[in-house]
Amino acid sequence: MGVIKIRICPLCNGLTEITYKCPRCNVPLKDNGRIEDFLDDYSPYLQQDLPNGYAGSTCTHLLYCPHCREDHRWEIPLV
Ligand SMILES: [Zn+2]
Ligand SMILES: [Zn+2]
Repeated sequence: MGVIKIRICPLCNGLTEITYKCPRCNVPLKDNGRIEDFLDDYSPYLQQDLPNGYAGSTCTHLLYCPHCREDHRWEIPLV
């Protein structure tokens, strides 16, 4: 009868604002969402048997830098 601890992504759940900055130009990055949302068609196995779809202890997001005009993969630690 243990309590299952479910970890959530603070970004997906709106608990925090993005404070990450581009490693190249130091411009604040914008959240483009979970990378799984982009990979759904290619990686159906990601959805299997995973509570909330989390495979590990991080949630990978695509963060967009408006200056570089590039997406960066960012591992967001779950809380
Ligand atoms: Zn997330
Ligand atoms: Zn940049």
